[in-house]
Amino acid sequence: MAAEIVVIEGDGIGKEVVPAAVEVLEAFDSDFEFVEADAGDATKAATGEALPAETFEAAASADATLFGAAGETAADVILPLREAVESFVNVRPATAYPGVDALRPETDVVFLRENTEGVYSGHEDRLSDDLSTLTRVVTSSASRELAEFACEFVADGRGPNGDADEGFTVVHKANVMRETDGRFREEVLSVADEHDVDADEELMDAFATKLPLDPGQYGVVVCPNLAGDVLSDLAAGLVGGLGLLPSANIGHDNALFEPVHGTAPDIAGEGIANPTAAVLSAALLLEYLGHVEEGQRVRDAVTGVLSDGPRTGDLGGEATTDEVTAAIVDRL
Ligand code: ATP
Ligand code: MG
Repeated sequence: MAAEIVVIEGDGIGKEVVPAAVEVLEAFDSDFEFVEADAGDATKAATGEALPAETFEAAASADATLFGAAGETAADVILPLREAVESFVNVRPATAYPGVDALRPETDVVFLRENTEGVYSGHEDRLSDDLSTLTRVVTSSASRELAEFACEFVADGRGPNGDADEGFTVVHKANVMRETDGRFREEVLSVADEHDVDADEELMDAFATKLPLDPGQYGVVVCPNLAGDVLSDLAAGLVGGLGLLPSANIGHDNALFEPVHGTAPDIAGEGIANPTAAVLSAALLLEYLGHVEEGQRVRDAVTGVLSDGPRTGDLGGEATTDEVTAAIVDRL
């Protein structure tokens, strides 16, 4: 049966980079069925709703969704969309590419971030004029689910080394948060052990120092929600260029793929946005749907174009979105 992919361009450069990503997906002979859906600021202006029920339903019932960006309505769009696909892990690769100015050119790390609980579980209270509290939620089930995903991810050779026995690093602060991060750490390490996957551990603060000093020592990194959010942004800073970073929100039988960047209002509508992050998000989508080799081919094509050009303005070039996309498709 054809895989159904919901395509939500959204606002700003989403309208430019998502079509580029679709063009790359269409370069393969796969029987994808693309279904367009609306969300974002323009949709809200037209219909009163940033995320119409039809779009939510479409994403919830599709095999995967490719999303661009939303402007002021971003939170009203992306949070429900992550719920629509019941995402439990956020996948964020940070790779430095030859030809792109990076603070740490040896960086090649993939963050697997827990996507449902921790301090982002929404349990905040104002108890008095002076006192607010936050309840941190960690369950064995969510921790194990993340770890199972990490083991499979590594076993499929999807880590930076492409090596089935590459293992992963679990980052936590279990020396202080003994109960919550203690549970997280214990469950992740126990799942790794069950799967014969090598798992190192690193305290979050030590990791935050070691990563920028020597990113080459890390590959796949497994984190609780907040740590993953902050540390993956730190890694993004090491590789340079918001236009390069893809992400995936993976659920049980559904997933949502999106570039890390936003609508880039300063360059929207000019046809000069860098399509790389969206195209690499499409590569993650291909892998998710089982087309692992095709996903790697997209990455190789992108790597070649980043190194030899053409390049968009954010990377010091003068090429348009279409020219870069055509160059990527050419290499496929
Ligand atoms: P939003 O509120 O939608 O996140 P923003 O103003 O934060 O919008 P971002 O999209 O996050 O903008 O981008 C921040 C900066 O990086 C902008 O200057 C933008 O032009 C640049 N940028 C982001 N993505 C790209 C891209 N794909 N190609 C070129 N430049 C980009
Ligand atoms: Mg932004």
